[in-house]
Amino acid sequence: MLSIYNTATHKKEEFKPNENGKVSMYTCGPTVYHFAHIGNLRTYIMEDILEKYLRYIGYDVKRIMNITDVGHLSSDADTGEDKMLKGAKREHKSVMEIAKFYTKAFFDDMQKLNIKRPDVVEPATSCIPEFIKMIEVLLEKGYAYGAGGNIYFDTSKLDEYYVFNKHDAEDLQVGVRDDVFEDTNKKNKTDFVLWFTKSKFDDQELKWDSPFGLGYPGWHIECSAISIKHSGEYLDIHCGGIDNAFPHHTNEIAQSEAYLGHKWCNYWFHVLHLNTSSGKMSKSKGEFLTVSLLQEKGYDPLVYRFFCLQSHYRKSLVFSYEGMDNAKIAYNKLVKKIASLCGEGEPNLEEAKPFEDKFKEALDNDLNTSLAVTALYDVLKADISDATKLYLVADFDKVLSLNLIKKANEKDSSADDELAAKVEAFIAERAQAKKEKNFAKADEIRANLLEMGIEIKDTREGVVWNRI
Ligand code: AMP
Ligand code: ZN
Repeated sequence: MLSIYNTATHKKEEFKPNENGKVSMYTCGPTVYHFAHIGNLRTYIMEDILEKYLRYIGYDVKRIMNITDVGHLSSDADTGEDKMLKGAKREHKSVMEIAKFYTKAFFDDMQKLNIKRPDVVEPATSCIPEFIKMIEVLLEKGYAYGAGGNIYFDTSKLDEYYVFNKHDAEDLQVGVRDDVFEDTNKKNKTDFVLWFTKSKFDDQELKWDSPFGLGYPGWHIECSAISIKHSGEYLDIHCGGIDNAFPHHTNEIAQSEAYLGHKWCNYWFHVLHLNTSSGKMSKSKGEFLTVSLLQEKGYDPLVYRFFCLQSHYRKSLVFSYEGMDNAKIAYNKLVKKIASLCGEGEPNLEEAKPFEDKFKEALDNDLNTSLAVTALYDVLKADISDATKLYLVADFDKVLSLNLIKKANEKDSSADDELAAKVEAFIAERAQAKKEKNFAKADEIRANLLEMGIEIKDTREGVVWNRI
């Protein structure tokens, strides 16, 4: 039975979906104004493990992700410039050009890291009618008000606003980054914008007509509306990095439940941050680590995935090249060990069962990926047939997604290529020796090849060789 930590209840809970055998899962997608950094991607790797493990244990999962291409301002306090516009100005391009380029770059990185593309991917700019409809209902129900040209959500209408943590006014600063301006239109400090027609920055590129005036949506409304559009009124799991918990997810809950009139999402899955030795990695700081940079430095992206799997998602992780080097060595050793297994024969499923149980036990316990990797090492060390080992490696890799069998086969065939090149070079050397009537040398080469486990035969068609 899978237990996961639920940020909303502060407890590890047994996972029970709303509908038997089916899971609806929503993931906050990237803000596509720049490349994703490897911190963002840590979150997506761990969410991918959750999704794949749910599938592994038999659930039919529908995963939805938005692409934030409008409305995410450079401060979570609803002030500052739209991040997309900032990106467009930085690169002298239009917002849509920036969105297209970085959305593609994001999915390229996802693919390199073996992260499955969510079943539904929806850019915010394609759901404007849904946002408008939701805001209209919130206005009708008295949960929203207009002020200074914008539409705000009225948090004072809720019984409980701080669902994840007990906040006080000072804690409010937690979610507030970068340029903070006081918005005097708000009735309550915690109110947030649903629709902007006026902001300090008037040059917003993308604007839409709406009953509230020409403008654009706030960031939070995106995720609520896109989730409800694709998974209906009840959501099983909502995921994101821990910085999303407040205010983004807090506001999502406020507006979704006010709109629906009932509880919306049961489990909140938050991944702790990847930090560098100097602190949190951040796109807005400009300088950050990307998958391409790791590749330039000679790391296979899957080594980064392996690095992430070795620590728990609820602990923050410090990135270091030393850590990556260790992960690289361990990953290569693992692949080499798998490459040395002989795949002949049938796996013994009875023999495999206790290892599968151990793997499941690790992941059932709040996705303990490092113990799941230990279960993999246990398989390779065990006194069971190679065929059973290979069966288990392929089975575990449905969740771990480290391409273990594929890499092992590549290693095997590259080892083959290397051997063939060596043998061919010896054969050529032997032919030259024979031509020069240096038969002693030719015999020595034949003996050397035999020592390497290679037998050669002179035939009418030339020299042929085989392993003995
Ligand atoms: P963004 O593109 O800024 O909207 O963020 C995309 C995802 O990455 C969100 O789920 C964030 O919570 C998450 N995230 C942001 N910074 C980090 C970090 N340093 N480590 C892990 N996840 C992060
Ligand atoms: Zn979101």
